[in-house]
Amino acid sequence: MKKPHIVILGAGYGGIMTTIKLQKSLNMNEAEITLVNKNDYHYQTTWLHENAAGTLHHDRTRIPIRNIINQEKVNFIQDKVILIKPEEKKVKLSEVELSYDILVIGLGFEAATFGITGLAENAFSIGNIKNARLLREHIEYNFAKYSEQQEKDPALLHIVIGGGGFTGIEFLGEIANRIPELCKEYDIDKNLVRIINIEGSSTVLPGFDPQLSEYAMNSLEARGVEFITGALVKECHPDKVIIEKNNKTIHVPTATTIWAAGVRANSIVGKSGFTTNKGKIEVLSDMRTPDYKDVFVIGDCALIINPENGEPYPPTAQIAIQQSDIVAHNIKALLRREDLESFEPIILGTVASLGQNDAVGILNNKYKFYGWKATVLKKIIDNRYLLKLGGFSLLIKKGKFNFFY
Ligand SMILES: Cc1cc2nc3c(=O)[nH]c(=O)nc-3n(C[C@H](O)[C@H](O)[C@H](O)COP(=O)(O)OP(=O)(O)OC[C@H]3O[C@@H](n4cnc5c(N)ncnc54)[C@H](O)[C@@H]3O)c2cc1C
Repeated sequence: MKKPHIVILGAGYGGIMTTIKLQKSLNMNEAEITLVNKNDYHYQTTWLHENAAGTLHHDRTRIPIRNIINQEKVNFIQDKVILIKPEEKKVKLSEVELSYDILVIGLGFEAATFGITGLAENAFSIGNIKNARLLREHIEYNFAKYSEQQEKDPALLHIVIGGGGFTGIEFLGEIANRIPELCKEYDIDKNLVRIINIEGSSTVLPGFDPQLSEYAMNSLEARGVEFITGALVKECHPDKVIIEKNNKTIHVPTATTIWAAGVRANSIVGKSGFTTNKGKIEVLSDMRTPDYKDVFVIGDCALIINPENGEPYPPTAQIAIQQSDIVAHNIKALLRREDLESFEPIILGTVASLGQNDAVGILNNKYKFYGWKATVLKKIIDNRYLLKLGGFSLLIKKGKFNFFY
């Protein structure tokens, strides 16, 4: 008899962890499992700001997929998903078309530029290994170019980051630490470098604990970061960014604008005809779509409303990993005709790094951490994930053990 075919799209946090859990929990004869990803590696999205700033090499962040899956149980296809056809139970890849019995959509996020003039064309983003590497090279090239110029262009040394949320703040922490090193390498006075953060709210890390947000701002300001809060990016050009604050327009000359102020679900879900809410698929409590009972959605493509405040849970790796437990369990339950379980997120805590040796975090909504203690906490979270993903050998290869600087 033909085995049911489970197809998992995307090897990010949600997709790869679902795959690992299914390969452990299903017997060989229960199902055929196929994982599709556009690269042959999984990457730790939560470390990309370090790759982008040049404080961590991207090879530390990426993990070859074939090293962590059991290839006797999982068929891995490196290809790009173009479209999902849920009515036909098919997925169109750039090379082939796959048929499925059960589908998991874990295609992650894309930058959302909200139609702001020039942003999509001229701003950098931090969303995958390739664009993180490009940004690192771009900044370094600009420093080299400035050093070589007869008539100096100060815009080459100005780095503007749109968005003071978690991604923006974590990148600021890394780049603030990298600048002295870059200045030394390219013989540049570090007082000429400007790192400017533009945030629409009155404070950075909006929605986070106010004391911790203030700590983050003070820590970054002490390293030379300038904050322009209550301001909106209006236009982005290759040589400047135009912002608006208190009804006044400000032109900031810069050769480097980074957009870290918005993400949306991978646009493939919308293009594939699923009913979406804010670009995501609002899933049932068992993580399936309301329209197709053979399609699960995970991570940043899924929308779940927090009943306590009526707001969607924020897109995080923490939630994507937790969802993989339920998705893997419910797929097994479907195959074995058992009851499906509901997903209930447990927000253990949130930590934002502020560079290699500083961070802010909150645990269980009450215990606040600053400085080295929060840094240690962040590294424990990262190492715990590696252990879950690939066991002790992966932890030893890729883990972060430099707890104290
Ligand atoms: C700089 C940064 C720092 C962050 N820090 C934290 C943090 O500290 N804690 C936290 O909880 N969250 C953090 N986040 C958010 C977190 O990374 C995301 O919520 C998480 O990655 C979502 O997981 P996912 O499985 O949905 O998708 P992703 O991890 O984005 O994976 C999607 C996968 O799908 C693949 N893919 C995409 N399109 C296609 C296609 N068309 N065909 C084939 N494959 C495709 C991608 O290559 C990727 O492998 C951070 C995000 C960023 C950018």
